[in-house]
Amino acid sequence: MVKLLKREEIEEFFARLKKHIPDPKTALQYKNPYTLLVAVALSAQATDKSVNKATEPLFETVDTPEKMLALGEAKLTDAIKTIGLYRGKAKNVIALSRILIEKHGSMVPKDRAALEELPGVGRKTANVVLNVAFGEPTIAVDTHIFRVSNRTGLAPGKDVLAVELGLEKRVPDKYRLHAHHWLILHGRYTCVARKPLCPTCVVRDLCNFPDKTHLMAARPDANRSTLRGAALREARPEKPRLKTASRKTAKR
Ligand code: SF4
Repeated sequence: MVKLLKREEIEEFFARLKKHIPDPKTALQYKNPYTLLVAVALSAQATDKSVNKATEPLFETVDTPEKMLALGEAKLTDAIKTIGLYRGKAKNVIALSRILIEKHGSMVPKDRAALEELPGVGRKTANVVLNVAFGEPTIAVDTHIFRVSNRTGLAPGKDVLAVELGLEKRVPDKYRLHAHHWLILHGRYTCVARKPLCPTCVVRDLCNFPDKTHLMAARPDANRSTLRGAALREARPEKPRLKTASRKTAKR
Protein backbone atom coordinates (compact mmCIF):
# COMPACT_ATOMS: atom_id res chain seq x y z
CA MET A 1 0.00 0.00 0.00
CA VAL A 2 1.18 3.50 -0.82
CA LYS A 3 2.70 5.51 2.03
CA LEU A 4 0.29 8.00 3.59
CA LEU A 5 1.00 11.70 3.17
CA LYS A 6 1.75 13.45 6.46
CA ARG A 7 -0.43 16.27 7.76
CA GLU A 8 2.05 18.99 6.80
CA GLU A 9 2.54 17.43 3.36
CA ILE A 10 -1.23 17.53 2.77
CA GLU A 11 -1.26 21.22 3.75
CA GLU A 12 1.47 21.89 1.22
CA PHE A 13 -0.23 19.67 -1.39
CA PHE A 14 -3.39 21.81 -1.33
CA ALA A 15 -1.51 25.10 -0.99
CA ARG A 16 0.21 24.27 -4.28
CA LEU A 17 -2.98 23.13 -6.06
CA LYS A 18 -4.62 26.37 -4.89
CA LYS A 19 -1.76 28.45 -6.27
CA HIS A 20 -1.80 26.50 -9.53
CA ILE A 21 -5.61 26.56 -9.96
CA PRO A 22 -6.75 29.70 -8.07
CA ASP A 23 -10.41 29.65 -9.19
CA PRO A 24 -11.55 26.04 -9.49
CA LYS A 25 -15.03 25.52 -10.96
CA THR A 26 -17.20 22.76 -12.31
CA ALA A 27 -16.94 22.32 -16.08
CA LEU A 28 -20.69 21.66 -16.27
CA GLN A 29 -22.84 24.57 -17.43
CA TYR A 30 -25.89 25.45 -15.34
CA LYS A 31 -28.12 28.41 -14.49
CA ASN A 32 -29.50 27.59 -11.04
CA PRO A 33 -29.54 24.68 -8.52
CA TYR A 34 -32.18 22.85 -10.57
CA THR A 35 -30.22 22.94 -13.84
CA LEU A 36 -27.08 21.98 -11.90
CA LEU A 37 -28.89 18.93 -10.48
CA VAL A 38 -30.09 17.94 -13.96
CA ALA A 39 -26.62 18.47 -15.50
CA VAL A 40 -24.90 16.39 -12.81
CA ALA A 41 -27.48 13.60 -13.13
CA LEU A 42 -26.93 13.58 -16.90
CA SER A 43 -23.16 13.46 -16.51
CA ALA A 44 -23.06 9.94 -15.00
CA GLN A 45 -20.80 7.86 -17.26
CA ALA A 46 -20.61 10.72 -19.78
CA THR A 47 -18.17 13.57 -20.35
CA ASP A 48 -18.96 17.09 -19.16
CA LYS A 49 -18.41 18.25 -22.73
CA SER A 50 -21.10 15.97 -24.13
CA VAL A 51 -23.52 17.07 -21.39
CA ASN A 52 -22.87 20.78 -22.02
CA LYS A 53 -23.43 20.32 -25.74
CA ALA A 54 -26.95 19.02 -25.07
CA THR A 55 -27.88 21.17 -22.06
CA GLU A 56 -26.73 24.54 -23.37
CA PRO A 57 -29.67 24.87 -25.82
CA LEU A 58 -32.00 22.94 -23.48
CA PHE A 59 -31.44 25.21 -20.46
CA GLU A 60 -32.08 28.36 -22.52
CA THR A 61 -35.79 27.62 -22.30
CA VAL A 62 -36.10 24.80 -19.76
CA ASP A 63 -34.70 25.81 -16.36
CA THR A 64 -37.37 24.83 -13.82
CA PRO A 65 -39.08 21.53 -12.91
CA GLU A 66 -42.40 22.87 -14.28
CA LYS A 67 -40.87 23.70 -17.66
CA MET A 68 -39.26 20.27 -17.76
CA LEU A 69 -42.61 18.55 -17.21
CA ALA A 70 -44.18 20.77 -19.86
CA LEU A 71 -41.43 19.71 -22.28
CA GLY A 72 -42.20 16.06 -21.61
CA GLU A 73 -40.15 12.87 -21.74
CA ALA A 74 -40.20 12.38 -25.53
CA LYS A 75 -38.81 15.84 -26.31
CA LEU A 76 -36.29 15.64 -23.47
CA THR A 77 -35.10 12.25 -24.75
CA ASP A 78 -34.56 13.79 -28.16
CA ALA A 79 -32.74 16.82 -26.70
CA ILE A 80 -30.22 14.69 -24.78
CA LYS A 81 -29.80 11.80 -27.22
CA THR A 82 -26.08 12.54 -27.69
CA ILE A 83 -25.44 11.69 -24.02
CA GLY A 84 -24.81 8.07 -22.99
CA LEU A 85 -27.75 6.20 -21.36
CA TYR A 86 -30.05 9.06 -22.41
CA ARG A 87 -33.34 7.15 -22.33
CA GLY A 88 -33.05 6.17 -18.66
CA LYS A 89 -31.67 9.61 -17.77
CA ALA A 90 -34.63 11.37 -19.45
CA LYS A 91 -37.04 9.21 -17.46
CA ASN A 92 -35.23 10.06 -14.22
CA VAL A 93 -35.13 13.81 -14.93
CA ILE A 94 -38.88 13.88 -15.57
CA ALA A 95 -39.55 11.83 -12.42
CA LEU A 96 -37.25 13.93 -10.21
CA SER A 97 -38.80 17.15 -11.56
CA ARG A 98 -42.23 15.86 -10.57
CA ILE A 99 -41.01 15.02 -7.03
CA LEU A 100 -39.39 18.45 -6.66
CA ILE A 101 -42.74 20.08 -7.48
CA GLU A 102 -44.82 17.77 -5.30
CA LYS A 103 -42.55 17.44 -2.27
CA HIS A 104 -40.13 20.36 -2.25
CA GLY A 105 -42.03 23.39 -3.56
CA SER A 106 -40.12 23.16 -6.88
CA MET A 107 -36.84 23.77 -5.04
CA VAL A 108 -33.74 21.58 -4.90
CA PRO A 109 -33.47 20.39 -1.28
CA LYS A 110 -30.31 21.34 0.62
CA ASP A 111 -30.30 17.95 2.27
CA ARG A 112 -28.37 14.82 1.39
CA ALA A 113 -31.09 12.29 2.27
CA ALA A 114 -33.76 14.20 0.31
CA LEU A 115 -31.43 14.53 -2.67
CA GLU A 116 -30.55 10.83 -2.64
CA GLU A 117 -34.26 9.93 -2.69
CA LEU A 118 -34.59 11.52 -6.13
CA PRO A 119 -34.49 9.11 -9.11
CA GLY A 120 -31.03 8.90 -10.67
CA VAL A 121 -29.38 10.82 -7.82
CA GLY A 122 -26.73 8.95 -5.85
CA ARG A 123 -24.21 10.02 -3.23
CA LYS A 124 -21.83 11.52 -5.79
CA THR A 125 -24.48 13.69 -7.46
CA ALA A 126 -25.79 14.79 -4.06
CA ASN A 127 -22.26 15.76 -2.99
CA VAL A 128 -21.68 17.83 -6.13
CA VAL A 129 -25.00 19.66 -5.71
CA LEU A 130 -24.40 20.32 -2.01
CA ASN A 131 -20.90 21.61 -2.79
CA VAL A 132 -21.51 23.69 -5.90
CA ALA A 133 -25.06 24.96 -5.35
CA PHE A 134 -25.03 25.31 -1.55
CA GLY A 135 -21.36 25.82 -0.70
CA GLU A 136 -21.08 22.79 1.58
CA PRO A 137 -17.57 21.31 1.95
CA THR A 138 -18.50 17.90 0.51
CA ILE A 139 -16.16 15.87 -1.70
CA ALA A 140 -17.75 13.84 -4.49
CA VAL A 141 -15.29 11.09 -5.35
CA ASP A 142 -15.19 10.37 -9.07
CA THR A 143 -12.68 8.33 -11.03
CA HIS A 144 -10.10 11.18 -11.04
CA ILE A 145 -10.29 11.85 -7.31
CA PHE A 146 -10.18 8.12 -6.58
CA ARG A 147 -7.00 7.75 -8.62
CA VAL A 148 -5.22 10.84 -7.25
CA SER A 149 -6.10 9.98 -3.64
CA ASN A 150 -4.80 6.45 -4.01
CA ARG A 151 -1.70 7.22 -6.03
CA THR A 152 -0.37 10.07 -3.95
CA GLY A 153 -1.08 8.68 -0.48
CA LEU A 154 -3.52 11.51 0.21
CA ALA A 155 -6.43 9.22 1.19
CA PRO A 156 -6.04 5.68 -0.12
CA GLY A 157 -9.11 3.45 -0.08
CA LYS A 158 -10.57 0.34 -1.70
CA ASP A 159 -13.76 2.05 -2.88
CA VAL A 160 -15.13 5.54 -3.40
CA LEU A 161 -16.79 5.73 0.00
CA ALA A 162 -13.57 4.80 1.81
CA VAL A 163 -11.73 7.49 -0.16
CA GLU A 164 -14.45 10.07 0.52
CA LEU A 165 -14.36 9.39 4.26
CA GLY A 166 -10.55 9.45 4.20
CA LEU A 167 -10.55 12.83 2.43
CA GLU A 168 -13.09 14.22 4.90
CA LYS A 169 -10.76 13.32 7.72
CA ARG A 170 -7.48 14.36 6.10
CA VAL A 171 -8.14 17.47 3.99
CA PRO A 172 -7.54 20.61 6.12
CA ASP A 173 -10.74 22.61 6.77
CA LYS A 174 -9.57 25.67 4.89
CA TYR A 175 -9.20 23.64 1.67
CA ARG A 176 -12.34 21.47 1.99
CA LEU A 177 -14.75 23.63 -0.02
CA HIS A 178 -12.69 23.51 -3.22
CA ALA A 179 -10.83 20.21 -2.63
CA HIS A 180 -13.29 18.40 -4.90
CA HIS A 181 -12.53 20.61 -7.91
CA TRP A 182 -8.78 20.83 -7.29
CA LEU A 183 -8.48 17.07 -7.20
CA ILE A 184 -10.70 16.51 -10.25
CA LEU A 185 -8.78 19.06 -12.33
CA HIS A 186 -5.45 17.67 -11.14
CA GLY A 187 -6.55 14.14 -12.08
CA ARG A 188 -8.07 15.16 -15.38
CA TYR A 189 -5.15 17.20 -16.71
CA THR A 190 -1.99 16.15 -14.86
CA CYS A 191 -2.35 12.95 -12.86
CA VAL A 192 -4.00 11.25 -15.82
CA ALA A 193 -4.76 7.52 -15.76
CA ARG A 194 -2.20 6.37 -18.29
CA LYS A 195 1.29 7.89 -17.90
CA PRO A 196 0.67 10.75 -15.47
CA LEU A 197 2.50 13.99 -16.28
CA CYS A 198 4.77 13.73 -13.23
CA PRO A 199 7.62 15.82 -14.69
CA THR A 200 5.40 18.92 -14.69
CA CYS A 201 3.31 18.07 -11.64
CA VAL A 202 3.32 20.77 -8.93
CA VAL A 203 3.13 18.19 -6.13
CA ARG A 204 5.68 15.78 -7.54
CA ASP A 205 8.06 15.98 -4.57
CA LEU A 206 5.23 15.38 -2.08
CA CYS A 207 3.51 12.54 -3.93
CA ASN A 208 4.24 8.97 -2.81
CA PHE A 209 3.31 7.23 -6.09
CA PRO A 210 6.14 4.72 -6.65
CA ASP A 211 5.85 4.72 -10.47
CA LYS A 212 6.18 8.40 -11.33
CA THR A 213 7.15 9.20 -14.90
CA HIS A 214 10.70 10.52 -15.19
CA LEU A 215 11.12 12.98 -18.02
CA MET A 216 12.52 15.69 -15.70
CA ALA A 217 15.40 13.48 -14.65
CA ALA A 218 16.25 12.74 -18.26
CA ARG A 219 16.10 16.42 -19.32
CA PRO A 220 17.11 18.61 -16.35
CA ASP A 221 17.91 21.56 -18.66
CA ALA A 222 14.50 21.75 -20.38
CA ASN A 223 12.03 24.44 -19.39
CA ARG A 224 8.53 23.74 -18.01
CA SER A 225 6.51 24.23 -21.22
CA THR A 226 8.90 22.09 -23.25
CA LEU A 227 8.60 19.37 -20.64
CA ARG A 228 4.82 19.64 -20.59
CA GLY A 229 4.66 19.24 -24.37
CA ALA A 230 7.04 16.32 -24.22
CA ALA A 231 5.13 14.72 -21.37
CA LEU A 232 1.86 15.09 -23.28
CA ARG A 233 3.43 13.48 -26.34
CA GLU A 234 4.76 10.70 -24.16
CA ALA A 235 1.28 10.13 -22.68
CA ARG A 236 -0.30 9.89 -26.13
CA PRO A 237 -0.47 6.46 -27.77
CA GLU A 238 1.81 6.17 -30.75
CA LYS A 239 0.17 6.40 -34.13
CA PRO A 240 0.87 3.41 -36.38
CA ARG A 241 3.19 4.36 -39.22
CA LEU A 242 1.73 3.93 -42.66
CA LYS A 243 3.94 2.33 -45.21
CA THR A 244 4.35 4.56 -48.22
CA ALA A 245 5.32 3.30 -51.61
CA SER A 246 8.84 4.14 -52.70
CA ARG A 247 9.17 6.80 -55.34
CA LYS A 248 10.20 4.18 -57.86
CA THR A 249 7.11 1.99 -57.11
CA ALA A 250 4.80 5.01 -57.03
CA LYS A 251 5.73 6.02 -60.54
CA ARG A 252 4.73 2.70 -61.99
S1 SF4 B 1 3.72 13.15 -9.26
FE1 SF4 B 1 2.69 11.97 -10.84
S2 SF4 B 1 1.55 10.41 -9.76
FE2 SF4 B 1 2.07 12.01 -8.27
S3 SF4 B 1 0.32 13.43 -8.26
FE3 SF4 B 1 1.79 14.20 -9.69
S4 SF4 B 1 1.16 13.38 -11.67
FE4 SF4 B 1 0.16 12.15 -10.08
